[in-house]
Amino acid sequence: MKIVEISKENQSDFKDYLKDESNISSSFEGQIIIPRSELELSEFLASVSTSNSPVYVSGKRTGLVGGAVPIVESEISNNTVLVSLESLNSISNFRETTNGAFIDVLAGTSLSDLITELDQNYPDYFFPVDPTERSASFGGMLSTNASGSRGFKYGSVRNWVESIRVVLVDGSILELNRGIDKLNNLGFKYQDKEYSFNEIYKPKTKNSIGYNYFPNMDLLDLFIGSEGTLGITTSITLRLLKKPKSVFFVLQLFEKVTDALSFIKKLRSEKQIDTLSIEYFDSKALEFASKSNALILSLFNDFLNNSRCAAVYFEVSSIDPDFEFEKINELVSSCNAKMDNSVFAETVKEQEDLKRFRHAVPEGINKEIAKRRLVHTRIRKVATDMAVENEFLGEVYDLYEKTFSNAGLEYVVFGHGGDNHFHVNILPRTNDEVDLAVSSYESLAESILKMNGSVAAEHGIGRLKKKLLKIQYPPEVIQQMIDIKKIFDPNFRLNIGVLF
Ligand SMILES: Cc1cc2nc3c(=O)[nH]c(=O)nc-3n(C[C@H](O)[C@H](O)[C@H](O)COP(=O)(O)OP(=O)(O)OC[C@H]3O[C@@H](n4cnc5c(N)ncnc54)[C@H](O)[C@@H]3O)c2cc1C
Repeated sequence: MKIVEISKENQSDFKDYLKDESNISSSFEGQIIIPRSELELSEFLASVSTSNSPVYVSGKRTGLVGGAVPIVESEISNNTVLVSLESLNSISNFRETTNGAFIDVLAGTSLSDLITELDQNYPDYFFPVDPTERSASFGGMLSTNASGSRGFKYGSVRNWVESIRVVLVDGSILELNRGIDKLNNLGFKYQDKEYSFNEIYKPKTKNSIGYNYFPNMDLLDLFIGSEGTLGITTSITLRLLKKPKSVFFVLQLFEKVTDALSFIKKLRSEKQIDTLSIEYFDSKALEFASKSNALILSLFNDFLNNSRCAAVYFEVSSIDPDFEFEKINELVSSCNAKMDNSVFAETVKEQEDLKRFRHAVPEGINKEIAKRRLVHTRIRKVATDMAVENEFLGEVYDLYEKTFSNAGLEYVVFGHGGDNHFHVNILPRTNDEVDLAVSSYESLAESILKMNGSVAAEHGIGRLKKKLLKIQYPPEVIQQMIDIKKIFDPNFRLNIGVLF
């Protein structure tokens, strides 16, 4: 096992471990532990289990809520430990069974490594969940219950996890299998003790808001989405799907936002088309993406002068392209647009280009934020991650526009329109605007709940959105989550400051 001692003197050499994509950072002093096996991790944690040492958990640090950043909040911070899962990185044991196809990954394996492995060796199969950031690790994705654009069709990571192995903070190891290790109604047994809690009600929308707890649930679903606060996942069995025979992607332009939103509603209720994802981009998002994509820029130059234009990007699993094309054409025309103003991607190369275009939006925004931070040091991106029920698509869009334009903030709207889940990215221009952005964002939470929504749909609560968790749930539900944590982490040492 690799152990690195971090002190004030050498902190800057290891700064990548001390921040994530949320741009918060830590002045951590302590040990970074890089285990090469589950056994090494388990033995190490057992050896420090009688100390009070806080233990933090780090995957690939692409998280957007600071969950992997080891911020030491208490005074008793001797011997702090940051566990990095980077060396638990392998893919094995692909198998086809009568129940489907499965593959095992160690928790530090990235999504892009799995995609490469499947493409090279098992090209008939794919992993259905596709968060935009493919360098994310499976341990991280499981811990935030990540989803992404294809969440529209396939839901979140939770749906594709068959079993997990977890090392608890005292070094003990749990193996949890779907369909086998279950709650008995609302109770379960752990280390010869019986526990029972009330059901935790979750909105029906996408969500990543603390622990799951419902009757007869699979116990692994308690750990999925727990943001590393219950245990450290070391390995995961994933369920795979057969690739659709053929897929095409479309980026369709609309002159008005309202037309784009109507199109989203129509497309998602069109049952004769097998739609995998429905993503939305406002004109500012298109502008950011176009900067890195000359093709898009040349096609949409005229539109880009129209600040109310918008685009919908969608992916279709195709059976009968002529029929699907005809149907889409009908839907597009009924929303005052023309398919002439679209990009249609059939080949792998064309599809990769469109995916790059999609990824260029957050990347372009991040670059702009980094530029602004050189002048105003507190500047960071503030981004919404809330989802509401289908009937509130237009209402939630209006709410965002009203809230952020009334506050005088600069913002970009894009994201998972098919799930009523927009990532409104606010780009503060001054340090004061960061506070204004955060308070404007937080002011939305009550309205989101009225739309039966979730305040954190896929990125988790982490360190940055704890205030929102308190709006989502009353104190007794949060206390129940804390009581559950204490079963697996009695001294409250694991990922302190995340969720609670
Ligand atoms: C450009 C961009 C686009 C993104 N798009 C999406 C998207 O479409 N959908 C989406 O869901 N997310 C998205 N994200 C967010 C991010 O990629 C996900 O949250 C991802 O799940 C984080 O994985 P990670 O390995 O980077 O985890 P980290 O950031 O390292 O950690 C995230 C959390 O998981 C915990 N953790 C990590 N590994 C383990 C483990 N083995 N056991 C227990 N806990 C662990 C950490 O303590 C932390 O609380 C995006 C991020 C970026 C930068």
